[in-house]
Amino acid sequence: AQGQLRQAQKMEAVGQLTGGLAHDFNNLLTGVIGSLDLLGQRLAQGRLGDAKRYVSAAQDAAQRAAALTHRLLAFSRRQTLDPKPTNINRLVGGVENLVRRTVGPAIAVDVAGATDLWLTLVDPPQLENALLNLCINARDAMPDGGRLTIETANHLFGEREASEYDLVCGPYVGLRVTDTGTGMPAEVIANAFDPFFTTKPLGHGTGLGLSMVYGFVRQSGGQVRIASRLGQGTTVDLYLPRHEGQADEADHSSLASRPPRA
Ligand code: ADP
Repeated sequence: AQGQLRQAQKMEAVGQLTGGLAHDFNNLLTGVIGSLDLLGQRLAQGRLGDAKRYVSAAQDAAQRAAALTHRLLAFSRRQTLDPKPTNINRLVGGVENLVRRTVGPAIAVDVAGATDLWLTLVDPPQLENALLNLCINARDAMPDGGRLTIETANHLFGEREASEYDLVCGPYVGLRVTDTGTGMPAEVIANAFDPFFTTKPLGHGTGLGLSMVYGFVRQSGGQVRIASRLGQGTTVDLYLPRHEGQADEADHSSLASRPPRA
């Protein structure tokens, strides 16, 4: 049943993804075809001056289409999850230096790990990736510098809180990333988890960061919440179910050898 659910979630993500992709891809293809049509006409008329313009328009649209398919490939290469009992404080500590290097010297990084933090059952490299994605978004929201805070906390969700978060009640480990950046308008928050939704210029955002974070956290039995104030900053909360067993002492994987997703 677990496998079927996972498969269903995957199919849903793929459906969402391909729908949006097909639309964008079709628009670009229409541009290529239109430019080539005009190019054919100009060539037939011997008007070579205009021809150049249509060649570069076709090239531009084709390059954008190629970039789209690259993103689709990157998305479909997502690994399946390999959950392990994980101490998130330790995981955060393992990527802290990478985070500092990634956000640069203009952004102060504060890490506040809760004492006696519960364990959670997640795929550690995927959680590291999710955290890095959140930090990259925070960095992009603070072009003039600011403060990035990473915090952990234990949460016990009662009936009401759990249903508000669309979770079952019980214990969760919270991982919170806060920035002092631009903030997000309501319509951006509403679309932020959609694959390929981005407000960043071409070549700067893939629009996959938050959709991957969301897919991963939901598959892990958790939830993602965004709270934001325009001009003040954004807080992203991940809630991951508590794991009641022992830590797996053998494994403290780290991202050190892998570059973050661009
Ligand atoms: P990308 O970062 O590639 O655009 P994401 O899915 O990670 O894709 O984010 C989608 C959009 O959500 C971003 O383009 C941006 O507009 C908005 N966003 C995400 N995180 C933040 C943040 N911390 N502050 C402000 N806006 C954000």
